[in-house]
Amino acid sequence: MNGRKQANIRRIVTQSYISVQLMKEVGLNMQSDRYYLELAFEEAEKASCEGSIPIGAVLVAPNGDVISRGRNQVFTAWDPTCHAEIDAIRGAGKLLFQPEYKNKCTLYSTVEPCPMCTGALILADINRAVWALSDNYLGALRIAKEGNHFRHKYDKINITVQPYVDLAEKSESLHKEFDTKRGVTYAVSNVSIDKSFN
Ligand SMILES: [Zn+2]
Repeated sequence: MNGRKQANIRRIVTQSYISVQLMKEVGLNMQSDRYYLELAFEEAEKASCEGSIPIGAVLVAPNGDVISRGRNQVFTAWDPTCHAEIDAIRGAGKLLFQPEYKNKCTLYSTVEPCPMCTGALILADINRAVWALSDNYLGALRIAKEGNHFRHKYDKINITVQPYVDLAEKSESLHKEFDTKRGVTYAVSNVSIDKSFN
């Protein structure tokens, strides 16, 4: 492997902003939903190590670039609004206002977005959401899309729900472990994971 290629791989590993162009240069393929969900899990694991709820999110541009990453910091920042999706949206800054990103980005999360984050998706003009694990405890996006409130707005968001069984189970175990440590019995999900899917 030549020096430039090694340097590029190092950049990919160390930087939070991952360029798909850079990945192509080192021979990596254009990434799938699974790839981005796995990046979201890296953030969920960071949140868990820090002592907050193990949820992570990444925001991806239409060309496949990761434009921001976010993680839950509710119990580290003591801020009930600091959810992973909000953190990722804030991290994207002015990019989301630009025509090449507006209504064209995808948000990946380890768990279905809650009511607050579902609203933030609308306000941020994000038109696709993918999550590893559905959540009947606080998840809201499926319900919002089914109801009439802001129907025309929610209809703009395409959703991909629990596309990988193993990632759904991984997200569920992160939460069970976290809840056990806290001595609570919230089930993050209560949604059956369809093992026949995929
Ligand atoms: Zn949320």
